[in-house]
Amino acid sequence: MKQTGSRGFRAYTSKHLDELLKRAGLDDGERLRIRAVATVLPFRTNAYVVDDLIDWAAVPDDPIYRLVFPQADMLPADDVNRIADLLRGGASTAEVNAVAHEVRMRLNPHPAGQLDLNLPRIGHEPIPGMQHKYPETVLYFPKQGQTCHAYCTYCFRWAQFVGEPDLKMASDDVHQLTGYLKEHPEVTNVLFTGGDPMIMGEPVLSRYVEPLLGLEQLESIRIGTKSLAYWPQRYVTDPDADDTLRLFERVVESGRNLAFMAHFSHPREMESPMVEKAVRRILDTGAVIRTQAPLIRSINDDPATWQTMWRRQLSLGMVPYYMFVERDTGPQDYFAVPLARAYEIYRDAYSSVSGLCRTVRGPSMSATPGKVCVDGVAEIAGQRVFVLHLIQARDPELVGRPFFAKYDPRATWLTDLRPAFADRFPYEPAIPSARLSA
Ligand SMILES: *Cc1c(COP(=O)(O)O)cnc(C)c1O
Repeated sequence: MKQTGSRGFRAYTSKHLDELLKRAGLDDGERLRIRAVATVLPFRTNAYVVDDLIDWAAVPDDPIYRLVFPQADMLPADDVNRIADLLRGGASTAEVNAVAHEVRMRLNPHPAGQLDLNLPRIGHEPIPGMQHKYPETVLYFPKQGQTCHAYCTYCFRWAQFVGEPDLKMASDDVHQLTGYLKEHPEVTNVLFTGGDPMIMGEPVLSRYVEPLLGLEQLESIRIGTKSLAYWPQRYVTDPDADDTLRLFERVVESGRNLAFMAHFSHPREMESPMVEKAVRRILDTGAVIRTQAPLIRSINDDPATWQTMWRRQLSLGMVPYYMFVERDTGPQDYFAVPLARAYEIYRDAYSSVSGLCRTVRGPSMSATPGKVCVDGVAEIAGQRVFVLHLIQARDPELVGRPFFAKYDPRATWLTDLRPAFADRFPYEPAIPSARLSA
């Protein structure tokens, strides 16, 4: 693979999609259907992903191609054909957008009540761009961090990227965050997320991070990011690379953990020498890099991929953290791996790596009650069941207590499961008719 060197960042959007797809050797009809999908779901990639990560000889099966390029069959065929017909007939942007909007609304754009359920308040005022779900951790969505260096086709936050104004949530007022934290001394972790906070240049990023360094209560600042995979130049050759690393150093020098939560979906993303350099430079600041990704059908749904990924992360000095289950939103039908299979993949990969990689946990579902981990499949009193536990919970009382669900080989999400040996799950209220939807 060739080296991108100091070439500047260049994003490709749906404007460039047709040109890029020609490179894949797809015919006119197929390209039109893919463009139809890209009116509903966000598309964005960049020259490094296209030139250095994708193996074009292996397209359309190439995992990195599938990671960033929409597929014609990601959405129901009727929807895709309807939009493709509009595009073919030269319909106006407004007409196409109206149909695309209608299709989006059927894709559960905000799983687990992202917008309303978790909005923290100062007094009675809800604060946009923040979520406070678990007592010790607040999520913060900086306004300028609401895009990424490239979009993943499976992204559960896809709705934020498609120009649906009322689906966006972000804040540009860090003083609301510090004000809230002062009222909530139980919060010891702030997690910057988005989008990708590392899309922000250092001058903007530091405006969000610096004010937090004066808060005694904070033990860690986390940054959730895919930049190491999609644009490692951010830490090596970008004009603000050095300043960014100095900002990380200031966090560490203030006596806090800077947890760099790197999203890697496939071992290919860790092959380039640019990534090695970027990881080295980040670790040299005293930051800790932890890794996480969802398990995605047709991209990384086999044990060898995860085993290779975790071992490579360990060699580079990164700490495997979570394997997630694809969430119940967007093209979930296309990417979902059944929980029973997810558990097998996790177990097979986990059993073949050293204990140093076994810091990873999963497969984990981020759902309304919390993060539910599938620990395994067991036969208890003649009944086949999933063994589950909550890694994180709105109610900390429930963390770490095993519970059971009836085995179902087709279940792909928490809401597909039914309790075993009980009439409700531990996180559900005792009133039988009021089962919480997860
Ligand atoms: C995962 C998650 C966190 C962090 O949980 P950890 O188990 O500490 O990694 C915080 N808030 C939300 C909403 C989450 O989904």
